[in-house]
Amino acid sequence: MKIGVLAIQGDFIEHIAILTKLGVNSQQVRLPEQLEDLDGLIIPGGESTTLSRLMSMYHLREPVAQMAQQHKPVWGTCAGMIMMAHEITEEDPIPLQLMDIGVQRNAFGRQIDSFEQDLEIVRFNTPPFHAIFIRAPVIIRVGDEVQVLADLPDGRPVAVQQGNLLATSFHPELTNDTRFHKYFLDLAATQTAGPD
Ligand code: GLN
Repeated sequence: MKIGVLAIQGDFIEHIAILTKLGVNSQQVRLPEQLEDLDGLIIPGGESTTLSRLMSMYHLREPVAQMAQQHKPVWGTCAGMIMMAHEITEEDPIPLQLMDIGVQRNAFGRQIDSFEQDLEIVRFNTPPFHAIFIRAPVIIRVGDEVQVLADLPDGRPVAVQQGNLLATSFHPELTNDTRFHKYFLDLAATQTAGPD
């Protein structure tokens, strides 16, 4: 199995470190041809306006959308989640429209633009997942096909899944908890194995 990590901006090194720790081959993706033969793709956190511009410049939008359509797992964390959205509350950045979610950037205001929160994740056993939010977005609309995996105590969703697609407002790659990465790898393994 080989997982791509979009490596044009943001904290891609941290995702690669976790994949390596889990014994999985990874590929830094900067060019469309580097998406070939991958079993999944992670879009890291960073700055979504920059990600959006660079994805256009490097002609990455179309091939990433194709990967998602081919049922390969694609997971966006934080700025990556903004790129996964169908719509956001601003005109810039331009999302990839892969998931049926609406997202608001920088949803937590300046005074608490970074915080940590223990989350109960529907698909995981105990203990709760210690989630790190950094100038994080929040999901403000969830389509019918989208499952909420975790929400904040106030009920706002921060982790969602739509089939082979995952999005998290927070940064699992900045913790030692590998459960989210393992969950994503399980999705990739299921796709590679094909339907029964
Ligand atoms: N605030 C950033 C944005 O809007 C996201 C921050 C992050 O990825 N940690 O793109």
